This record gives sequence, C-alpha cells and structure tokens, in this order.
Amino acid sequence: MSEEKAQRHNERMKRHKKVVDAKIEKATIEQGVVIVITGNGKGKTTSALGTLLRSLGHGHQCALVQFIKGQWDCGETRFFAGTQNLVSYTMDTGFTWNTQNFEQDKQAALDVWQQIKPLFSDPNCHLIVLDEITYMFKYKYLDIAELVTAINNRPKIQNVIITGRAAAKELIELADTVSEINPVKHAFNQGIKAQEGIEW
Ligand code: ATP
Ligand code: MG
Repeated sequence: MSEEKAQRHNERMKRHKKVVDAKIEKATIEQGVVIVITGNGKGKTTSALGTLLRSLGHGHQCALVQFIKGQWDCGETRFFAGTQNLVSYTMDTGFTWNTQNFEQDKQAALDVWQQIKPLFSDPNCHLIVLDEITYMFKYKYLDIAELVTAINNRPKIQNVIITGRAAAKELIELADTVSEINPVKHAFNQGIKAQEGIEW
C-alpha cells in the first residue's frame, strides 16, 4: 500500500471509530433483549445456540426450549446433556413442519408452554432460547398474546431468543434485534445430503 493510500485508510478508520464511539456512548440502557432470528436461510438455530454458548460461558443460567428438533439425535442435545446452568425442554411428539396430528401436537406444545412459563418470572434465568417457536403460532397451537405478555413482564435483565421462519409481526414488533437470514444458496438444492454435525 502506498503511503498516501495508507494515510487515507487511517483517516477513514479514525472517522469510523468516532462514529462507533459516539454510538457506544449513547447506548447506556442496561436491560435484557429480545432477539428474533427468522428468514428462510440456514443459520437460525445455530445462531441461537452460539449465543447460548456465550451466555453459559459467562456462567449464566439459561434455558433451551426446542419445539421441533427435540426428538432428533442432534449434536447440540448430546453436547449439552448434563451441562451445568442449562435446563432443556422439548416438545415430546414427532412434530415436524408436515404435522400429522393436530390435536396431539397442540397438546404437546401447550404442555411445553406450561412447563416454561415460570422461566419468564425467574430473575436468575439470564437467557431463554425458544427454538422454532414461530411455527407454534402459525399452526395456532399457542397463543402469541400470552408469549408477548410473558416477555413484556419478564425480569429486566432476562434475554429471549426466538427462532423460526416467518416470524409473526407481533414478534418483530416486540423484539429489540431482528435478523432475517436470506438463503443465497443452500447445499441441499444442489443435491448435497444433509450432514451429521452440520444440519443436526
Ligand atoms: P440451522 O439449524 O442449521 O441453523 P435453521 O435453524 O436456520 O438451520 P431451519 O429452518 O430450522 O433452519 O431448518 C432446519 C434444517 O433445514 C437444517 O438442517 C438446515 O440446514 C435446513 N435448511 C435451512 N435452510 C434451508 C434452505 N434454504 N434450504 C434447504 N434446507 C435448509
Ligand atoms: Mg432452526
């Protein structure tokens, strides 16, 4: 890089730092956040699990609630088994995107909801991951208003992550951070088989 180019780069970085520093200074509110990871691309559940690791790494108490993949032999389920500070809940039916038994699945979703409700008033629970919960509202198994109320009344420092495609507008409105993952490419569409350790 020429000296002139290097100097221009340095000046640009300095300006950028100033903008970032100003934003950091303005962000003074201390509270938990609601994060929605939605969209049709790959990376929603794995993103939530990454944040879960981060939180556990700091010694926080966390909850992982899986509405779909619960029964599958996922690497994360194996990895997290017996993890200190983590409580896990899974919907105990074979619910998939192509649901077969509405009443049974609805009951299973309601059972999970009853089990996890107390988490939203537990000040020691730092993070709740609600994986694939968006489908529970799409299929009308759960009442979205109940979740919104629980989240709005949660302890101030608690964080909640919601994943799943087509997040309802109520969830988008409620969230502090929303990321929509866009499927630019997916190996599956090129005929590449789902792989252990990558897809599950
Ligand atoms: P991951 O668990 O890998 O983060 P995800 O949570 O974003 O994926 P889901 O919609 O929950 O994706 O789908 C779960 C499975 O479907 C995963 O095995 C994932 O690789 C696969 N998948 C995700 N997006 C696509 C896509 N656009 N086309 C085909 N398969 C996909
Ligand atoms: Mg997922």
